[in-house]
Amino acid sequence: MNALITGVAGFLGSHLADALLAVGHSVIGVDNLCTGSMENLKHLAHEPRFEFRQQDICEPFDPGRVDYVFNFASPASPVDYSRLGIETLLVGSAGTRNSLEIAKRHGARFLHASTSECYGDPLVHPQTEDYWGNVNPIGPRSVYDEAKRFSEATVMAYHRYHGVDTRLVRIFNTYGPRLQKNDGRVISNFMMQALKGEDLTVYGDGGQTRSFCYVSDEIEGILGLARCDEHLPVNIGNPVEWTILDCAKAVLRVTGSKSKIAYSLLPMDDPMQRRPDITKARQLFGWKPKIDLETGLKLSLDYFRACAESEQATQ
Ligand code: UDP
Repeated sequence: MNALITGVAGFLGSHLADALLAVGHSVIGVDNLCTGSMENLKHLAHEPRFEFRQQDICEPFDPGRVDYVFNFASPASPVDYSRLGIETLLVGSAGTRNSLEIAKRHGARFLHASTSECYGDPLVHPQTEDYWGNVNPIGPRSVYDEAKRFSEATVMAYHRYHGVDTRLVRIFNTYGPRLQKNDGRVISNFMMQALKGEDLTVYGDGGQTRSFCYVSDEIEGILGLARCDEHLPVNIGNPVEWTILDCAKAVLRVTGSKSKIAYSLLPMDDPMQRRPDITKARQLFGWKPKIDLETGLKLSLDYFRACAESEQATQ
């Protein structure tokens, strides 16, 4: 199979490329590198089945014949999408449409990386795929949330009106090696702070919750969905829910750091709770995550330690 991955230089895009190459597929990866990094692809420099093109998917493009399009391009952390608000709206609208056009032209299957942000600050808990969400359409997170919701609508429209064979994965918080060290996300912030001996910055009282999925579990779930023929959204995430304060304590345990916890203001519209109901993924393709948070943090330790050391070396 020839696969196209948009956003291939990002955290998930690069792990997805590795997983597809590992089972013998060829991958064309595109990225405009606005948040992705060539560092995530450097191990593929001599891989003959991998080709990288620097390309902004907001401009129409044609990679040639492909069998599967994985649409993963978008800034994804609150810090990145706040900085790149207009770009985020455009990649979720024009970018998704251009990617769908490629699938339509080549008769390729299509999988779109959607998000738990479609549920906003959810009033239904845990979140099932039939919940429509509680999203502020004009708040600071709206550039991301509404772009992703517009993408979902566009994907469903290409499925309904053009018969494109589409899939929608709603990805919950995911972490692991290659997570950007400075993208402001909770796991990268806490790991870097713990390893540098700085205070861990817990926003609000730390009572808000998230459910953290290790990257290999997430990719396995995404590939499970890619292989089945469900067109409606499917949640892929780890259903074990953590308060942010307990997550900070887990990071301190795993790193053995003596850092303290420092509380600061909760950002506007920060969701109070997040937890996927994964019944659908389990029933459709027998998926469930295997790696708990502390194990996943241990598996991420070498990566974050190298990031912290290179940062300290350049200071
Ligand atoms: N958070 C925190 N300290 C940080 C970074 C994030 O307490 O240094 C909190 C943030 O307020 C949110 C949760 O951790 O409640 C997850 O934030 P993240 O930016 O990782 O992703 P989100 O799920 O909000 O998109």
